[in-house]
Amino acid sequence: MGNNIKKWFSIGSKRVVNESCDSDKPCSCKSEKTNDGFDQVLNAQTDRRNAIQKLTAGLLIGAGAVSSSCSVSKSDEAKEQSDLDWEEYFKGNYKLMTDEEKQNTVDRLTRSYELRTGKKINMSAAGPIDDVLYGYAFNISKCQGYMDCINACVEENNQDRESQMQYIRIHEIEKGSGIEFKNGDDTYYHEVPAANHFYIGTQCFHCDNPPCVEVCPVQATWKEKDGIVVIDYDWCIGCRYCMAACPYDGRRFNWKTPEVPEEEVNKNQHYLGNRLRKQGVMEKCTFCIQRSRNGKNPACVEACPTGARVFGNLLDPNSDIRWIIENKKVFRLKEELGTEPKFWYYMD
Ligand code: SF4
Ligand code: SF4
Repeated sequence: MGNNIKKWFSIGSKRVVNESCDSDKPCSCKSEKTNDGFDQVLNAQTDRRNAIQKLTAGLLIGAGAVSSSCSVSKSDEAKEQSDLDWEEYFKGNYKLMTDEEKQNTVDRLTRSYELRTGKKINMSAAGPIDDVLYGYAFNISKCQGYMDCINACVEENNQDRESQMQYIRIHEIEKGSGIEFKNGDDTYYHEVPAANHFYIGTQCFHCDNPPCVEVCPVQATWKEKDGIVVIDYDWCIGCRYCMAACPYDGRRFNWKTPEVPEEEVNKNQHYLGNRLRKQGVMEKCTFCIQRSRNGKNPACVEACPTGARVFGNLLDPNSDIRWIIENKKVFRLKEELGTEPKFWYYMD
């Protein structure tokens, strides 16, 4: 238990990069910096000046106007990269793409990653599976506050290792005080379970009637047919309206560029899930879309050592999630709001 907590903190404190360091001598604050997530995808900042420089170079290369001492294959790769960047820069909202355009988009990002890093990723554009509607249940009496789910979520979803951004919160609450999050502690750092306390996890609840989706001014977030509420990171403008609208504190804004050491990058990705993100966009739980649409349980469900987490297809009458909803005394948070979360709590 203690080790799990330490593991998370060691992940979260691996590197401290001092961006304001102005020393021109080699120093640890600079040398420890690793490629951040977006750099690993595009190896470039996305401001217009850089983009225009890159695009201009691409055009010049394409027109044969740039002479180079590099090998032919290097120059071919540079041109290919420029072409990919050009298409990437002007791509549309994923929600409005045809299936072919979606596949072309993930193929482009996959190839781009390979050109930049020499490594391959497996990025999926898999859509919802017919007759599947995902739901999640959380057994309050089983959770012991170990935080294995948080560690697994961070690693699975390529979350920033420095800011300690977490999609899951585990709230430690004193028994007898009801489920009042304002009386709880989600930053506890001690041996668990603590005497006379219980633990309850929260994350995005993938509401059937999600207020976050309603307020997005650019349609960068929406509910898919299988019930997963997704975000197109490249269409999000970072206004944070959705964060304000969520009654469950389910959304996370990345104030800094997510950084994941190359060797820790989860290379099994989905465009709407754990692909490497840029700074200044909204993130959150996606029910591990890269896993669930592949027939697997989310990472947090797999990692929980007590079996407190259950995930499955609400449309399958034989699924565990259906059995729990039909046989346990389940409840959802803030039901009076009419948000219809697809996340139920229960006790043994
Ligand atoms: S932060 Fe992004 S997803 Fe959220 S409302 Fe604004 S544009 Fe939409
Ligand atoms: S379902 Fe996946 S993304 Fe959501 S909280 Fe669990 S591990 Fe994180």
